[in-house]
Amino acid sequence: MTIRDNLIEVRRTIEHAARRAGRVASRVRLVAVSKNQTVEAIREACDAGQLLFGENRIQEAENKIHAMRSDIEWHLIGHLQTNKARSAVRLFDMIHSIDSLKLVMELDKRAKLADACVTVLIQVNVSGEESKFGLAEGDILPVIDWIMASQHLQLSGLMTIPPFSMNPEDSRPVFRGLRRLAEKAILDRGILEESELELSMGMSSDYWIAIEEGATLVRVGTAIFGER
Ligand SMILES: *Cc1c(COP(=O)(O)O)cnc(C)c1O
Repeated sequence: MTIRDNLIEVRRTIEHAARRAGRVASRVRLVAVSKNQTVEAIREACDAGQLLFGENRIQEAENKIHAMRSDIEWHLIGHLQTNKARSAVRLFDMIHSIDSLKLVMELDKRAKLADACVTVLIQVNVSGEESKFGLAEGDILPVIDWIMASQHLQLSGLMTIPPFSMNPEDSRPVFRGLRRLAEKAILDRGILEESELELSMGMSSDYWIAIEEGATLVRVGTAIFGER
């Protein structure tokens, strides 16, 4: 199987899942997770029409971003340390991994200095699993309010990573929980319209389930590029 074949297969799975859920497939965007992949592999995906990629480390991403064509959209999906906020603002179109008020304040400052606007998602630890990054549900309101007050940060929605499991169905309640939280904390409060809300959830092992539960951004690496 080539990267092109894999992409065709993943896109087909996305369409089927959207149809099962009565959703339009165009409301689901595929973030091809290219961490640990070579520039050659990313080019191959590009040639197959994939123009949206996710990276999880600043340094690695920076080298790739400079080596690739400029019309590609790059998303940061991994934990961001505050001391890398300046680079993140410069390199990425969207940051999925907002997990502290401290990070929001630093990004706001850096975006202001760069006269940039950064689109962000708040990462939520829905399951309450101990080892994961992400804010507890109860801690997201002040972070939302700070982002809303900022001139340089644009809130687009929420992101989550469920605990690892061999059974993809185990992720469903976590995805459903993220959707419910977005309804309560963002839609019901009139912060975003339904059509603007982004929910970043689902990876190679469970992205079709995430789509059934309302994902608008699925982050898929292994199913496209093979094992890392
Ligand atoms: C690596 C990674 C993915 C992709 O995982 P696969 O199982 O390879 O699809 C998605 N999201 C995040 C945050 C990741 O770090």
